[in-house]
Amino acid sequence: MTMQDDAYLKCMNHQCGLEYPIKSTNVQCEKGHMLDVKYKNKPSDKLKEVFYKRRNPQGSIFNESGVWRFRELLNFCQIETEDIEECSKYLVSLDGAEGRQSKPYRMSKAAKFIGTSNENLWLQPEGYNPSGSFKDNGMATAVTHAKMIGAKRIVCASTGNTSASAGMFAANEGIDCDVYIPAGQIAPGKLSQAYQFGVQIVEVDGNFDDALKQSLEDVKNHDGYTVNSINPFRIEGQKTIPFRALEYLNWEVPDWIVYPGGALGNTSSCGKALMELYEWGWIKKIPRIAVINSEGASTLSDLYNGKFEGEELRWNKGNPNTELISRYYDHLDKEGLRPKTKATAIQIGRPTNILKGLRALEFTNGIVTTVSDSEMLDGMSVVGLNGFDCEMASGATVVGVKKLLNEGVIKKDDVVVGILTGRQKDAMLPVEYHNNPENTFAKPPKN
Ligand SMILES: [Zn+2]
Repeated sequence: MTMQDDAYLKCMNHQCGLEYPIKSTNVQCEKGHMLDVKYKNKPSDKLKEVFYKRRNPQGSIFNESGVWRFRELLNFCQIETEDIEECSKYLVSLDGAEGRQSKPYRMSKAAKFIGTSNENLWLQPEGYNPSGSFKDNGMATAVTHAKMIGAKRIVCASTGNTSASAGMFAANEGIDCDVYIPAGQIAPGKLSQAYQFGVQIVEVDGNFDDALKQSLEDVKNHDGYTVNSINPFRIEGQKTIPFRALEYLNWEVPDWIVYPGGALGNTSSCGKALMELYEWGWIKKIPRIAVINSEGASTLSDLYNGKFEGEELRWNKGNPNTELISRYYDHLDKEGLRPKTKATAIQIGRPTNILKGLRALEFTNGIVTTVSDSEMLDGMSVVGLNGFDCEMASGATVVGVKKLLNEGVIKKDDVVVGILTGRQKDAMLPVEYHNNPENTFAKPPKN
């Protein structure tokens, strides 16, 4: 069977729907809409058995990889997936390490803090990826596409996790990596991993949005390949986060999947994964997605919950009120409102994937809420007491579940999978937290 032309790119806007060949480097259609990777063939659910068997990798890094173990479900290279030589030629991997250690765990102290039973709560630490965050899942697939089209340089705008992941993959593949940052606004420590992997830092006058804009323009005018989450191939790799969660639950679908909300690439990819699995008949039930924003960076929550102009923004079957989003952004600019939270990983005012995020929320009957910085620090700290490390933004997942349980939105009997997105982003935050005896889980030093 030939796999040719099984995969292609399609504009997500229903009225537009432009299609492009899989080797296109457009990250948007020519009218500026976001693209999806699409597959014509429906993978058989007999693959569940194949994926399970690959957990004994038998010497193949592509079975070891938590991303490429599911390669039939993201086969945009259209290769013979059991042919190791083909896999080696096409698939980019950190020697099988991306996603390898990420799976749902029980964390009894977190369950107790949240107020749910240990059996009903699963937390999946994506910080145990090689570069320290979930980004490695999507970077494996984006850099695979970059390699497929012959790119010699990958480019991103980033202040932390994305640049670390991009830099690590670039160093492994022997290609160049440019990281765009707003000049003078980023502490050098935040970029230490990126420097370590030999990336070229490019300073741009303005804020983060300006840096991203400049990077996209430079890619258009020179040779380069964008690996920010605007890139649809990033979303493909991030689908394996819910794939792993579902597989470890023996494909028994939980009631909820909970993510911190930043650029909304995770929400989007979870939604796409669930839409595809449902369409393919792999799952019969659809879990609800809960997105947890920081109170200080609450664009999605404000719009989704009708806190701006009283209208609840929805995907609306493909007809979202994009004017409302524009007016919200104008309002932020006019009032000089900047996203502000110590959880820098989700300190985002203009989520790149807001429309794909809304689509995911509509498909899953999802909800959005907010938590405070001090709550997030408690969430981060209680995860630590279970012997797992996570960054402050990931703490949003834990306290978000707690809040939704208290509100009765999540029911006592509901099974919840929470995603912990990264670790070790801001090393001083736990030190500050534990030195303040007023914090819930603080253990101050003694002398
Ligand atoms: Zn379009």
